[in-house]
Amino acid sequence: STPAVMLSAMAAAARGGVLFKSSAALDALAGVRTIAFDKTGTLTQARMTLTRIFADDERASLALAAGLEAHSEHPIAQAIVTAARERGVAAVDLSGAQAIPGHGIEARTDAGERAWAGNLRLMEREGAQLTPAQHSALAELNAQGSSTVVVGVGPRVLGVMGVADALRPGIAGALGAIRAAGVEHTVMLTGDKSEVAQAVAHETGLSEFRAELLPEDKLRIIGELPPPVAMVGDGVNDAPALARADLGIAVASGTDVAMESADVVLMQNDLAKLAGAVRLARAARRTVI
Ligand code: ADP
Ligand code: MG
Repeated sequence: STPAVMLSAMAAAARGGVLFKSSAALDALAGVRTIAFDKTGTLTQARMTLTRIFADDERASLALAAGLEAHSEHPIAQAIVTAARERGVAAVDLSGAQAIPGHGIEARTDAGERAWAGNLRLMEREGAQLTPAQHSALAELNAQGSSTVVVGVGPRVLGVMGVADALRPGIAGALGAIRAAGVEHTVMLTGDKSEVAQAVAHETGLSEFRAELLPEDKLRIIGELPPPVAMVGDGVNDAPALARADLGIAVASGTDVAMESADVVLMQNDLAKLAGAVRLARAARRTVI
């Protein structure tokens, strides 16, 4: 049976908004050497905003993007759907929408063409290419540290969009406290571009980052980091990495599947609470041994 000291540590953690699904999870956190963090929606706020549209017809490309992103749970999707609504742009009706993890989303237009929105990897898969003007718009957005979305139909790129991604408040302090609690390595894993990851690593003081990762890359890297490894994530794409890690930690603003795959849930999405939980877990382990 679970020692009383562990039960009371779990109860104390729960009062602080950190929900352990088992006493084994509490014990695992006590021994964690590395914590890997997803970027979008985990280190950054779940709310992103559309900052820029570069297109011959901005409203048409936003209407198409919103039609696609209405079917996605990614934080980028919510930024685009909200922007369309705020500008009074009606989303294009599409069918058969399908998320492509680490790439974006695809669906069919009424005319039977394939519409898509996502990153350059998705664009290449669709056999599409940027014009020189679109290419320089994208480069400019990346240089500013914005995440970017390319929207198209079949082999035609209709527009390039920038989305901004504010860090969660207090994140640098929270990561510092996690390291001070004895976690040796804090690493960001992201599907986003290196430029964006670099800017976030700099602002948060993260010791290490890996960018432009597909969900399967995140899985592999989890297995390569100094063990035991905890993974913190929010998205559908993070579920396999959360399950693969020695300890999966989900932020509660994330998707249901992330919370189901995790051993620990951060109820207030507050990474500062994680440092307190590490200290509690370590104290409980010392008392039990
Ligand atoms: P992260 O949470 O680190 O961004 P993801 O695996 O969720 O990692 O996404 C990786 C990349 O795939 C994103 O940075 C984005 O470029 C692209 N992407 C994923 N889903 C979408 C979407 N619905 N719309 C546009 N781009 C997307
Ligand atoms: Mg994410």
